Amino acid sequence: PLTIEIRDLVVRHDEGRAPALGGVGLTLTPGKRTALVGPSGAGKSTLLAALMRLVDPESGDIRLTGPDGSADIRELTPEAVRERITGLTQDPYIFQATLRDNLRLAGPDADDERLRSAVRRARLARWVERTGWDAQLGEDARTVSGGQLQRLALARALLYDPEILLLDEPAEALDETTADALMSDLLDATHGRTTLIVTHRLRGLDRVDEIIVLEEGRVTQRGPHSELLAQP
Ligand code: ADP
Ligand code: ADP
Repeated sequence: PLTIEIRDLVVRHDEGRAPALGGVGLTLTPGKRTALVGPSGAGKSTLLAALMRLVDPESGDIRLTGPDGSADIRELTPEAVRERITGLTQDPYIFQATLRDNLRLAGPDADDERLRSAVRRARLARWVERTGWDAQLGEDARTVSGGQLQRLALARALLYDPEILLLDEPAEALDETTADALMSDLLDATHGRTTLIVTHRLRGLDRVDEIIVLEEGRVTQRGPHSELLAQP
């Protein structure tokens, strides 16, 4: 289990403009789920990009600490980062095939020692059981709803068993009911896994361990749901 520690992170996309992240510090604790909320342009996507090593910080660092020690993610290869930190985008790539084939084809390399097919089948079976997907696995991925595609993308990611999951507004572009159901499923599926969820939706966040509010590149509030949000 890895702890991610972000310290004083400054990321600037354009010289001469204000940084997208102006000194962000936060810790992602193993097994805990954190929601990252804040207005558009606050720097949420930039923070996820930095965690995936897609942008380089101007200063500050991101450290991964585990039983084997501690490393700045810049000391790791992009592959080593990708193995540990998996991010899901809003628009997952899909094959023009059934959901079942999408899981099979985009899942981990079948030769991968850690991911023998029996293990994958077991994980997939658990997921299918949880989401009540059985009836849908044979459907063409192009015909299923946006919510199901997000579930597919998460299922694919979980097959790799990443230490840390980053979800970027998974319920964006879905209607209320579908979005609520998806968020609820995602929270079920990420139980016990270190997860950072970027979301505009405050509903359902009583199930995350910590909420972090980002505004203009800075953390302005943080705490459990009970401290930050009024109960309806
Ligand atoms: P959202 O609120 O959904 O994050 P944004 O408009 O902030 O939407 O950004 C959408 C995507 O466009 C992000 O991935 C971000 O990295 C990229 N982006 C945002 N602003 C710029 C910009 N000025 N130049 C280039 N890319 C940008
Ligand atoms: P959020 O995800 O919270 O909407 P972003 O991280 O997308 O915020 O954007 C933070 C700031 O950085 C915004 O001012 C945005 O325009 C800018 N930005 C984001 N991505 C890029 C990019 N690739 N190039 C230039 N500016 C960007």
